[in-house]
Amino acid sequence: MAVTPLPKLLEKTQKIVNSYVRRRDEGLNCISCGSPNANQAGHWVSVKQSSALRFNEWNINLQCAGCNLYKHGNQVLYRIGLVNKIGEKAVKELEDIALNNRIKKWERDELFEIMKKYS
Ligand SMILES: [Zn+2]
Repeated sequence: MAVTPLPKLLEKTQKIVNSYVRRRDEGLNCISCGSPNANQAGHWVSVKQSSALRFNEWNINLQCAGCNLYKHGNQVLYRIGLVNKIGEKAVKELEDIALNNRIKKWERDELFEIMKKYS
């Protein structure tokens, strides 16, 4: 059996976590602008800013396409929405992770664990 290449595995894991977030947040408005037309799972801290938060479920929330695709996540308003949702302390924890772990090299086993958890 061929081994799935890591980039494919990262992509697959992201799809599974994103789809979990869409189910979790079903019926909620866009975390950044409050639009009711929110149907995308959008990162607050981008994967480029910190790959360690790539699969953190609280770094991913329901967003509208406008904020997610055209306003780079609308980060400033996203933070306000996120504080309302999970509290300042949890948001600060995410910020700490982002500052201290900009680049995380994901291991295959970790990805399999995440996929299992969010499937
Ligand atoms: Zn929005």
